[in-house]
Amino acid sequence: MSTYRKPKKSDITKWLIFIGIYVATITLTSFLLLGAYWYVWFVLVAGGLFILVLWHKKSTAHHCPVCGDEFEITCLTNLFSPHGVTKEDDGWTYLKCPQCKNRAKMKILVKENKKNHTTHN
Ligand SMILES: [Zn+2]
Repeated sequence: MSTYRKPKKSDITKWLIFIGIYVATITLTSFLLLGAYWYVWFVLVAGGLFILVLWHKKSTAHHCPVCGDEFEITCLTNLFSPHGVTKEDDGWTYLKCPQCKNRAKMKILVKENKKNHTTHN
């Protein structure tokens, strides 16, 4: 069971830090690996991007301003959808709503997974 909430400043900071680490890593390793080990670097870039998109997908949901539906999207949709931030610091993704089929700037919500460390055996 998970709940959705509005992203806070700290969430946006966290996203930016993650993206920053990724960009810094590929930039630094490009000096070491580009050349003889270009394929290692390529795997690093692709793998890192995959992890970022997967993590972003796992931690976010979208809110439709037209019908109020809250939904999650696939990694691929996420990767190829335009993203932006409003003046009010709200993140959005331009998507088609699965409920009302309208295309709009869907407000990004943070998915909060209820901590569940107990195993059910
Ligand atoms: Zn909708």
